[in-house]
Amino acid sequence: MSNPRKVSRIILSQIASDGAGVKLRRSIGTGQISELDPFLLLDNFGTENPDDYIAGFPSHPHRGFETVTYMIDGQMRHKDSTGAEGVLGPGSVQWMTAGRGIVHSEMPEQTEGKMSGFQLWVNLPAKDKMCKPRYQNIDPEDVPVVALEKATLRVLAGSVKGPDGMIAGPVTGVATDPIYIDVALAPGGGYLHKIPEGHTAFVYVFEGSIDVGGRTVDQHNLAILSDGNGISLSSEEGGRAILVAGRPIGEPVARYGPFVMNSNEEIRQAVHDFQTGNF
Ligand code: MN
Repeated sequence: MSNPRKVSRIILSQIASDGAGVKLRRSIGTGQISELDPFLLLDNFGTENPDDYIAGFPSHPHRGFETVTYMIDGQMRHKDSTGAEGVLGPGSVQWMTAGRGIVHSEMPEQTEGKMSGFQLWVNLPAKDKMCKPRYQNIDPEDVPVVALEKATLRVLAGSVKGPDGMIAGPVTGVATDPIYIDVALAPGGGYLHKIPEGHTAFVYVFEGSIDVGGRTVDQHNLAILSDGNGISLSSEEGGRAILVAGRPIGEPVARYGPFVMNSNEEIRQAVHDFQTGNF
């Protein structure tokens, strides 16, 4: 790795509430950092108290971007305006391209007293904002698990060099050419991942603590990475994080709740289309 990335900024996630009172930790999409092009929001939901989330995210719209749900524990039942319905179980991924518009509900369900996971919002370039909605629902058994010495990788998007060659994640055809890897390090473990230069990249630590490019990042913290062609992760005590990267879009962002477009006029149109049932 000729040009290793470093941590350029660490942000402690904020406890927030969304949907019908779901408690979560938000790191991107707050007053501290409203966006990290192409990423618009990152929520880590997780609690053992059902009262914190059981009312879920009742029917709501999206237009102009993608929502990515990754379940660690528990389940999320989803239902939408295209007639699709399903349950995301532990380890599953849903990469939803809202495009011109979708109305859906996301209702968490506990399994063995646990419910946790992530929701990431990924922007779409102007040319794709009004595309036909698309779902990639990926079952846990279709997420490759790469077991290295003292490191276990779950490859959602992008590819990883395994013992027998490159292993690609199941998510494909996304405009921002994303990387999304769940990295679990045993005590003393380490992992080095290549990231294309120019991609925006971050690491969010959700268990233990991880040394990211030479800097310690504790649980519940987001580490934004400088540019470069890779990042080294290691941990003395053990830890688990998501490593996410994507190509920046570099276009104006007009944002109003669940609508993310390029101009205020397009936002007004989105609100009008939703209110008149034209999603
Ligand atoms: Mn949603």
